[in-house]
Formats: sequence, structure tokens, C-alpha cells
Amino acid sequence: GVYASISLARSDSPSAAAVSLAVVKNYFQRREFSFTLRDDIYVRYQSFSSPQELEKELQKTSPYKIDVGAVYSHRPSQRNTVHMGAFQAQEKELVFDIDMTDYDDVRSCCSSAEICSKCWTLMTIAIRVIDRALVGKYLPRPLGSDCCHIGRSARH
Ligand SMILES: [Zn+2]
Repeated sequence: GVYASISLARSDSPSAAAVSLAVVKNYFQRREFSFTLRDDIYVRYQSFSSPQELEKELQKTSPYKIDVGAVYSHRPSQRNTVHMGAFQAQEKELVFDIDMTDYDDVRSCCSSAEICSKCWTLMTIAIRVIDRALVGKYLPRPLGSDCCHIGRSARH
């Protein structure tokens, strides 16, 4: 996907900046991950102390699909230990989903879920188009793009 980070609680005061800096320290730990497991079992509110812990869990459960959710006020895995209403989403990326299957009528190299380096050129152009349309008007800076396709692409 293509993403830009949007802060839900926005303020320009220096103290707010200090708070958000402090928050960055355990940003990863408060991030929700959701897994789709075998037989369409959907598991929400997974969170991890470190990327290594996430990696271990992925190796253990081998999910079919991974959704990266919002950053919450508390660790999603410990949401039941905080007062009701205190557990809230604080930050979430704005995601533009560019689906390669939408390019099937203009690409000759691949089709459906297949993707090669030529396809990435189309993806890059799409990102530039979105950038041109949004930066300045709605976004303060160009979009980042993660070239990461989460999920099993080899479902042939
Ligand atoms: Zn291709």
C-alpha cells in the first residue's frame, strides 16, 4: 500500500510535541495487528513487545493475511486490563490500496495476482499521480510507499 501517517490528535503546541515524542518510544507495542488464520479465523487486537516477538508469532501461526491496524492508547493485547472507554485508537495511516488486477487491460507481462518488476513501474506511476493530486492540498509531504505485499501471493 501507499501510506501517509495522520495523527488523530493534532496540536502544534510544544508540550503536545513532547508528549508525542514520548509516545513514539512504545509506538510498536501499541500497534494492533490482526491475523486471518486457516478456516477464515480472524484474530484481532494482537500486539507485540518487539518486532522479534511478532516474527516468532508469525512463524508459529503462519497467518494467511496480516492487517496492520491503528496505534492505540494502550497495548491492544492488554485492552481488557484498562478502564472501559480508556482504550482508544490514536493514530492510523491513510492507506491507498493500489490493486494490480486493475491494470490487467494495460499490462502484457502479468495478469491477476502475478507481479514482476515491470508491474512496479505502473505502481510507481500510480503513486506519483496520487502525490501530484494530494500533496500541498491535503498532505504536507510526499507519500511513502512500502513495497511490501503482506499475505500469500502464491495461491495458484
Ligand atoms: Zn508484470
